Amino acid sequence: MNQEESSAFSRRPKVSLIEGDGIGPEITSATLRIIEAAGGTIDWEPVSAGMSALESDARDPLPQATLDSVERNRLALKGPLATPLGGGFRSVNVALRQQFDLYANVRPARTIDGVPSRFSGVDIVLVRENTEGMYTGIEHYVDPRRTAAESIAVITRYGSERIVRFAFDYARAHGRKKVTLVHKANILKMTNGLFLEVGKQIAAEYDDISFEDLIVDATAMKLVLRPEDFDVIVTTNLFGDILSDLTAGLIGGLGVAPAANLGAGGCAMFEAVHGTAPDIAGKGLANPTGLLRSAVMLLEHVGQAEVAARIERGVRAALASAESRTRDLGGKADTAMYTRAIIANME
Ligand code: NAD
Repeated sequence: MNQEESSAFSRRPKVSLIEGDGIGPEITSATLRIIEAAGGTIDWEPVSAGMSALESDARDPLPQATLDSVERNRLALKGPLATPLGGGFRSVNVALRQQFDLYANVRPARTIDGVPSRFSGVDIVLVRENTEGMYTGIEHYVDPRRTAAESIAVITRYGSERIVRFAFDYARAHGRKKVTLVHKANILKMTNGLFLEVGKQIAAEYDDISFEDLIVDATAMKLVLRPEDFDVIVTTNLFGDILSDLTAGLIGGLGVAPAANLGAGGCAMFEAVHGTAPDIAGKGLANPTGLLRSAVMLLEHVGQAEVAARIERGVRAALASAESRTRDLGGKADTAMYTRAIIANME
């Protein structure tokens, strides 16, 4: 399939829509309403996954019809999913990432006026390697009495090269100036040593972007001392998992943080990073910002940057006032009021 034929480049791209469990349907419906009001042109293809899929006729948390839809469209927007406990079900989120080789997890964290946070001036994009490292799932107990357990981290030259190159290409495409590679090569001399070695080689190909490497523990400290010193961060799976929640915390938490999983063959899945919030599900109180801002990343990805900018302006204006902010952010609004405030503030 060439670029012109692929869905991402069509004027009205088709996108698989997984609304998800818990608050998923509420935040999805708010998101679709806002995109439509902003003039976004997307053909949504609703498909199911998670608990709702398991309880439907499909009886499967990740039905084949959903996989086929994502395979066809190469684009998906996904709400939070509850992974059924026990019964040998693997995480649907992990399964989707593996199935479509979504190797780059992109998590932007930028200060939003009005959202309570201890920090200001934060504008960081964290790029996490999504497929290898400590999360390969190669684990075992060393003996039947379970006196010890081992877990194997795998870092490959191929995986390191493509994620570091992705981070540099992202930096270049988005007018960013610096890439910080985060590792623990002083202790994990081979796995993280390889990641760092490859990173330095790739960095030499991008003389327009500055490069530094930093040990993960020092990074954790510096992120809370001087977050404004960071621009793009690229790191391994485990460190990326932890540090991306830290960077979300710098801007007010997971409720407002967007994410994209991008992969081989142009496949891209945009998702809210918070969970299904069972405590408030169905009450009309959920904050749709995380999913909506992930949809903004989707709109930018498919060339609808003006629509994306309009929504981002609406979000920032709505979040600036306690009257229109949702309760998780210290405001008074419910989902419907917040949605209306965004739409009213989009120009
Ligand atoms: P959670 O994120 O669902 O909830 C933590 C707290 O944050 C709750 O008090 C909740 O009300 C609040 N919260 C979360 N999102 C919110 C929103 N958009 N608006 C307002 N408040 C919000 O985390 P949890 O309770 O640990 O997990 C619940 C379920 O979600 C579990 O089944 C878990 O496996 C699943 N989960 C899914 C994903 C995902 O699909 N990406 C991520 C994390 C957890």
